[in-house]
Amino acid sequence: MAKIDFSKYKIYFITGSQHLYGEGPLKQVADNSKVVVDALNAAKEIPIKIEFLTVATLNEEIIAAIQKANADDSCIGIICWMHTFSPAKMWINGLKLLQKPMLHLNTQCNCDIPWSTMDMDFMNLNQAAHGDREFGFICTRLGIARKVVNGFYKDPQVVKEIAIWSRVAAAWADCKTMKVARLGDNMREVAVTEGNKVSAQIQFGYSCNGYAIQDVVKYINAVSDAEAEALVKEYYATYKVPSTSDVAKKSIFAAAKQEIGLRAFLDEIGATAFTTTFENLYGLDQLPGLASQRLMEQGYGFGAEGDWKTAALTRTMKVMAAGLEGGVSFMEDYTYHFEQGRQRVLGAHMLEVCPSIAAGTPSLEVHHLGIGSTPDYPELNLEPARLVFTTKPGPAINATVIDLGDHFRLIVNELEIVEPDQPLSNLPVASTLWIPKPNLHEGARQWIEAGGAHHSVNAPALSTEYMEDFARMAGIEMVTIK
Ligand code: MN
Repeated sequence: MAKIDFSKYKIYFITGSQHLYGEGPLKQVADNSKVVVDALNAAKEIPIKIEFLTVATLNEEIIAAIQKANADDSCIGIICWMHTFSPAKMWINGLKLLQKPMLHLNTQCNCDIPWSTMDMDFMNLNQAAHGDREFGFICTRLGIARKVVNGFYKDPQVVKEIAIWSRVAAAWADCKTMKVARLGDNMREVAVTEGNKVSAQIQFGYSCNGYAIQDVVKYINAVSDAEAEALVKEYYATYKVPSTSDVAKKSIFAAAKQEIGLRAFLDEIGATAFTTTFENLYGLDQLPGLASQRLMEQGYGFGAEGDWKTAALTRTMKVMAAGLEGGVSFMEDYTYHFEQGRQRVLGAHMLEVCPSIAAGTPSLEVHHLGIGSTPDYPELNLEPARLVFTTKPGPAINATVIDLGDHFRLIVNELEIVEPDQPLSNLPVASTLWIPKPNLHEGARQWIEAGGAHHSVNAPALSTEYMEDFARMAGIEMVTIK
């Protein structure tokens, strides 16, 4: 259900021109467009199929092309290129209808000027340098948010920028139809994880609805012992399991039932993101730690303590990052290391950090957790199973979305993940250590001043450019700290 499948998506490529040049040049424009589209489709970095739609030369043709893109559910965006000059008043009526993300590609079919052979016909045919300026003006005049990419279409930087946009367009299509399941309410008295779910659906498209934890318990109780045993076997084959005590075995077995039952519940209601809260676990024998970690790794968005905005953002960023090196995880700024010259943040959570960001093989452990017990069902209280690990050094981002009452703000901090100075041998949860850009002193100050949450999405797989593209598609404010 949470599987991310880019093959169901496509991007329409629309080339602008006009009838001034005659049929011959227009055929050449179409042929050249196909050359560009074929090259982009051959680039392995771009995971979404690009389909050449048309050479649009008249107001009516432009309207028809935009309407086709709007109406096609598989179309997640359009790429526009003005091969020749395409007077932009022709584009006004069509662009006003556009409901899909746009990338404006300012390129040329030829890389070099053919110095010795160039004549007026060649110049007339290859005039994106001013055709794309005319188009850019009308987009800006109409207030159309779009990504502008400039350069030869085979330039690796151009391909990279298109690839990032195409991944974000897929994530945006996913976001607009996402269902977020809230299992329990927001943690009592916590402010930043609250927000207006109606505003969120208007802005982002996803719907966020609450379910009783007993709805999930039914699914967990329906999991057979044999199914759970098979999954436990997979755990033992996948992770280090240091304790073989009866208590640990019982807890890991219960965690396997949670994973299977929770996934069955989410799939039944069509949800690809979910929240939990330790304040509402009635009928569960442990806070879903291992289950949340494993489901995140399988592509589900997750937010702890009822944090549905971060659950949705985790899912969206997982779609952007599908198939890339790195990983994406729910995260919380936990503890500082303030040593002069070596300032760092330790990120972790009670249990739920996604193993997609782990370095090496995670350790499956069972430890006491002081909060999240079910006082009315003491016989059900198990110490929760969780994966313990540290993370790979390298660049990453933290991102968070906050609801400021009258608008949403996306805050992104670039950071460098580093190794712990010493082993964290007594820490019973997964953790990661990072240096925020430009440094902890300034990075954390700016994050806090912008109102950034203590929850974020930590993404070694992504960069700020992904989030810029996302903010543009979603039409939200963005604050970048770097
Ligand atoms: Mn938290």
